[in-house]
Amino acid sequence: MKEDDIRPFKLRKQEEKLFEEDAKEFLRYAKRFIDVDCPACGKSNKKVSFRKKGYVFKRCDTCRTYYISPRPTPELLKIYYSSSKSAKFWQEKIFPLSRDARMKTIYKPRADLILDIVLKNNIGRELLVDVGAGSGFFGQEAVSRNFFKKVILIEPGPIKIKSSSSVEVINDFIENTNLNLSPDIVTNFELIEHLSSPLEFLKKVYVLMRRGSYFIFTTPNMEGFELITLFNRSINIAGPNHLNYFNTSSIRLLLERIGFKDIQVSTPGRLDADIVANKHKEGVIDLKKYPFLYYMLIQRGDELKEQFQEFLRCNNLSSNMMVVCRK
Ligand SMILES: [Zn+2]
Repeated sequence: MKEDDIRPFKLRKQEEKLFEEDAKEFLRYAKRFIDVDCPACGKSNKKVSFRKKGYVFKRCDTCRTYYISPRPTPELLKIYYSSSKSAKFWQEKIFPLSRDARMKTIYKPRADLILDIVLKNNIGRELLVDVGAGSGFFGQEAVSRNFFKKVILIEPGPIKIKSSSSVEVINDFIENTNLNLSPDIVTNFELIEHLSSPLEFLKKVYVLMRRGSYFIFTTPNMEGFELITLFNRSINIAGPNHLNYFNTSSIRLLLERIGFKDIQVSTPGRLDADIVANKHKEGVIDLKKYPFLYYMLIQRGDELKEQFQEFLRCNNLSSNMMVVCRK
């Protein structure tokens, strides 16, 4: 899998430019941003780690979580996303062009992974609820395999899937819903890093679940290869899009505060090595300063790069993590 498949280089650069404009314009609301404590452990001992384009990044001394503070409230974030030029560009240009590649490299493998976890853990297959369903393609994929009797997709933004006998689409924020469901499994992909309060969101998820049911979600891992290497030069480290940067241990602290148990963390990410190699080629970092990495990621070619990625996955060192836990 390659970064260019899902984010073609030329479009990626245009999107980044729009994103920078969005982020800069949004700073006109900075006076209304609020100070927060660590979104993982809740402690207040923190230091400024760095500033990037007007946003202040703090690091928690207790659990090493990085986070933007002061940060926009949920209300301000709604304004941001509804007027975001880069989000519109993504919906209208990048998504249609990379749709097939995304199906093949993201949604199908994601469904494989979830189904594998369902089988291994003997999880029921009556109802799956995907919160923050995005395009809805993961839910559609799960249904098309006849694996779950019913799938409910909760998504406030534009969603590409329509309700049918086996799929119910709820076009709203989870905070506005008052559902009385008994899901076997709740999923949530790449969302909590964006939220003003992950704690409040996860509490809402917890309420939605029944005792014993499973919650599976993904979010970036700040202590993975891509983010340790690129750090604040990563496009994934940018306000106000990503506000919370957990790691494989701090995410546990957050879940334990709510009451989740049997927490298992893995890092199934597949793009670290390719993204770091691309950033070298784009001149963002100079891997020649690290001759071993240069030799391995640039000179030796794709096969070794993929093997290195496999090593990262196996050792919880990728920057994309997946968490499986239960109520
Ligand atoms: Zn902390």
